[in-house]
Amino acid sequence: MAENVAILGLGTMGAGMAANLLKAGFSLTVYNRTAAKAGGLVSLGARLASTPAEAAQGASIVIGMLADDGASREVWAGKNGALESAVAGTILVESSTVSPAWIAELAELAAQHGAELLDAPVTGSRGQAAAGQLAFLVGGSERALQAVTPALKAMSKDVIHLGPTGSGAKMKLINNFLAGVQVASLAEGLAWIERSGLDREKALSILKAGAPGSPLFATISERMVSHNYDVNFLLRLMMKDLTYAQTEAARCNVDLETAAAARRRFEAAVAKGFGEQDMAAVIEPLRNL
Ligand code: NAP
Repeated sequence: MAENVAILGLGTMGAGMAANLLKAGFSLTVYNRTAAKAGGLVSLGARLASTPAEAAQGASIVIGMLADDGASREVWAGKNGALESAVAGTILVESSTVSPAWIAELAELAAQHGAELLDAPVTGSRGQAAAGQLAFLVGGSERALQAVTPALKAMSKDVIHLGPTGSGAKMKLINNFLAGVQVASLAEGLAWIERSGLDREKALSILKAGAPGSPLFATISERMVSHNYDVNFLLRLMMKDLTYAQTEAARCNVDLETAAAARRRFEAAVAKGFGEQDMAAVIEPLRNL
C-alpha cells in the first residue's frame, strides 16, 4: 500500500513538491490556509484536509512548507495544528526556511508526542520545485532520514545530511545570507551601470563571464533588466531570511554587517510596495529615487 504523506503549505514551493509526491505514487493529503489553492492537486488525486491536524491524521510523514516561523508555529502547534495528530513513529519534516531556535522548540514538541522532527529546508526555487530538482539540507537522525528518503527523493536531485537537528536550518540561512547579499549588491551595481553611460548588455556580459558571475547573478540580472517580477521567490521572504541569518550568526558571535546592509535594501523595497513581487524587484527603489 502507498505510504501516507501529508504536506502543509501549497505556496510557490509546496504546490510543486506536492505534485511530485503524487507523481511518484504517494498517497497524499494536503492542507493550505487558503484552501482554494489546492484545486489542481485535488484533481491530480490529493485529498484536501480542512485543518493541519486532519491532514496529519494517519500520515507517517508530515511535511511543512510554510512562509516563516510564525506560519510554521501556527500550522504545527496552533489550534488544530498537525502536532495534535502526531503519534509515536510519525516523522515531521520542516522544509520551510525557519530559525534554528524554532526548529529546536518544534523538535521538543514533536518528541512530547513520541514523534521525530527532521529540519529539511531546500535550495532551488519555483522551477526546481516543479521539476523535482530541489536539494534538501537535512538535520536530524539518520534513522528518520532513511525512512523519509524515498519521499524526499521524489521531490529532489539531492538529499544532504548535515548533522543533528538544526543543522539543515543553519546551513540554509548561511546559503540565503550569501544569496541575499549578492542580490542586493547586484541591484546597486546594475542601478550604477544604468546611470553610468556604459552599454548595459556589454557590462552585464563581462560581469556574468567574470569573477562576480554566478547562477543567481545570471537569473536575477536578466529579471531586473526585463522588469520581470513574477514570483519565484517573494521579496519579503528574503528580508525574513536575512533577519534570521543575522540572529543566528550573532549566536556564534559573528556580526553580519553585509546582511544588515542588504536587509535595508529589501526593507526599502517592501516600503515601496514590492514585498509581494519577486526579490529581483529590490532594484526598483534604486531606479526611482
Ligand atoms: P509562499 O508562496 O509565500 O507560500 C507560503 C505558504 O505559507 C502558503 O501555503 C501560505 O498559505 C502559508 N502561510 C503563510 N502564513 C501562514 C499562516 N500564518 N498560517 C498558515 N499558513 C500560512 O512561499 P514559498 O515560496 O512557497 O516558500 C515557502 C518556504 O520555503 C519559505 O520559508 C521560503 O523562505 C522557503 N523557500 C522558498 C524558495 C523560493 O524560491 N520560493 C526557495 C527555497 C526556500 P496561504 O496560501 O494561505 O497564504
